[in-house]
Amino acid sequence: MFFEKFRMDGQTAVVTGGGRGIGLACAEALGEAGARIVIIDRDEAVAESGRRALAGKGVEADALVLDVTHSAAVDKAAADIFAKHGRIDALVANAGIARTGTAAEDTPDELWLNVNDVNYNGVFWCNRAFGRYMLKAGRGAIVNIGSMSGYIVNRPQLQTYYNASKAAVHHLTASLAVEWAERGVRVNAVAPTYIETEMTKTVVDKTMMDIWIRDTPMGRMGQPHEIASVVHFLACDASSLITGATVKADGGFTCW
Ligand code: NAD
Repeated sequence: MFFEKFRMDGQTAVVTGGGRGIGLACAEALGEAGARIVIIDRDEAVAESGRRALAGKGVEADALVLDVTHSAAVDKAAADIFAKHGRIDALVANAGIARTGTAAEDTPDELWLNVNDVNYNGVFWCNRAFGRYMLKAGRGAIVNIGSMSGYIVNRPQLQTYYNASKAAVHHLTASLAVEWAERGVRVNAVAPTYIETEMTKTVVDKTMMDIWIRDTPMGRMGQPHEIASVVHFLACDASSLITGATVKADGGFTCW
């Protein structure tokens, strides 16, 4: 009976940025737990390849093409998903972008706004839109993907805009959690270390990688499934007493 709390049969779970990487691993985990999955991704080909990968593993999913920075489109997606499935039980607000290499004093407005628009505004638009349906139902769980960069300052790469956007996600998580705690909606976040995905492939060079590994007590990067298992825990009833938490899944990185 104890493990019943980890099941999500009959539930509907939405994963933004779910076409690949951490989001896809989360979609797979929640789908394996029994939830009906809706992948949201701004890239149509990526969304569709994610849907096919899940189907290959026996997980049924819808793929929806949507840019989370467009708040009206996010509201419409939430309405459409609710109309189709009749319930929205879990949201994984995972869509995010990494940009590095520009010093704070040289950061153009466009770079600052772009990173914060996806990583921070997009998370709020999704929490607000999907959270409304959860509040009406009196139950739901939201998991936002933050980062250890919301706690520490990465080195050697310069990325003030990214670090600040992720710290904002953590505090947004706590703020929403408090507002919605008595109304049955839990809001938590996960703060990953460096994870092997397309995101880290595009920014990494050998010297940088050596520094990342040296700075990590576990001496390695993480894999998407190692974040997905934490997300699953926070999305299902096994974590029924947890809200407002940002769980570090960082191989000990923030301890040093
Ligand atoms: P990824 O680039 O592999 O995947 C991100 C997905 O999000 C892509 O499919 C992309 O198309 C989608 N996406 C981006 N912008 C979007 C938008 N505006 N609307 C809808 N979809 C959008 O990245 P990942 O490594 O899987 O990262 C996922 C999340 O985890 C991000 O929020 C990232 O900041 C966070 N994170 C990643 C790492 C890491 O080392 N990979 C570490 C800490 C936190």
